[in-house]
Amino acid sequence: MPAGPAHGDAPRPARGRKAEIVLRPIGPTDRALLEALASALARRFERPARIGPGFELDPAWYAPERDQYRADAILDRLVERFGAGPGLSLGVTPADLYVPGLNFVFGQATVGGCCAVIGLARLRTAGTDTPDAKDALFFRRALTEAVHELGHVLGLEHCPDSHCAMHFSNTLADTDRKGPDLCPHCTARALSRPTTRRTL
Ligand SMILES: [Zn+2]
Ligand SMILES: [Zn+2]
Repeated sequence: MPAGPAHGDAPRPARGRKAEIVLRPIGPTDRALLEALASALARRFERPARIGPGFELDPAWYAPERDQYRADAILDRLVERFGAGPGLSLGVTPADLYVPGLNFVFGQATVGGCCAVIGLARLRTAGTDTPDAKDALFFRRALTEAVHELGHVLGLEHCPDSHCAMHFSNTLADTDRKGPDLCPHCTARALSRPTTRRTL
């Protein structure tokens, strides 16, 4: 097997190969959840997905008065650390995220870029469901937000179809209504995206 030049933490994919998805834990993130997300994302985006190194939450990104972390700062760190590599990085953090001017964000991405982040804190709700049902709902929400942000990384914009994962979510109810599936239009666009990502 011919060895290409190494760059970042993985070999650069050969021309025409789909850039892999790399899930990156940001702070203490459940490994089983990351594994389940990786296999669901690999199926949906028809490309390899794996768990790679992440980093810790930096206290400088924490706003104690709102008990939230800056999503844009995490995204900047992802781009700085992993933007030159060949993969599409999805940071997954247990934190609740915000950006200045918004009460919260479920996630953030560089559109058509390299990186995205999702925050899990807001996807958990206390309820009367059985623990299994709650886990299933929590996983469905996490997958929905992961598909949405990776869709942006692949260049997709928001979709007017309220049942498409690329629809904008303002509330958990929006997230639950749309679910993790892309509409046929967004699916076609996501799967026809070129494949190897250009370095920014
Ligand atoms: Zn969006
Ligand atoms: Zn769509």
